[in-house]
Amino acid sequence: MMIKEFQVVECPNCGAHHKMRKPKTKLKSYEIYSDGKTFSPELDEALEVAACAACGECFWIEDASLPKVEVTEEMPSLKPLTIAQYAGMLDAEVITTDEEEILRMELLWAFNDRVRADKPMFENEGDEELWAQNMTILYNLLDSADVYSRLLKAEIDRERGEFDRAEEILSKIKEGQLAGIKNQLMNAIKYKEREVVKFNE
Ligand SMILES: [Zn+2]
Repeated sequence: MMIKEFQVVECPNCGAHHKMRKPKTKLKSYEIYSDGKTFSPELDEALEVAACAACGECFWIEDASLPKVEVTEEMPSLKPLTIAQYAGMLDAEVITTDEEEILRMELLWAFNDRVRADKPMFENEGDEELWAQNMTILYNLLDSADVYSRLLKAEIDRERGEFDRAEEILSKIKEGQLAGIKNQLMNAIKYKEREVVKFNE
């Protein structure tokens, strides 16, 4: 393990130190899914928010990074939040609209992670209600002026089974570099496929 690829993140509650892979601008190997989540061996799963490995406190990584502290092998990695922890953070914190968008995006990913792990999307009482509410609020937070936000809106519609609306949004996306992604989403819509899909290159 190359220690210099890591930075130190300190829990604001108990002070425990964690190591975190420094985000790279260019990844050599990665997988991208239709909900926008990227997986890579060069990337930690917790990127914006994390749960402390010692006390379980949830916090924003940016506010807790310690650039001048040396990384050691014994430090645990940051843990991604559970669905309940995302819901708790959305309830408890005074947050900006941008922060809410990040938390809601990642909450959508956390539900889809269950599908990616071949598990049912809804496990606990209240899951489906939380999922549906999150989809509606996230949809309204996304800025329609931005093409990637429009792609995500189409994805939210597709996952909710609103296939006509998803198709309508996608049909207006003309950017050449997104043609491959658009075709794969259109194909999923054609087969009334609601689950998150992995994009092919
Ligand atoms: Zn802690």
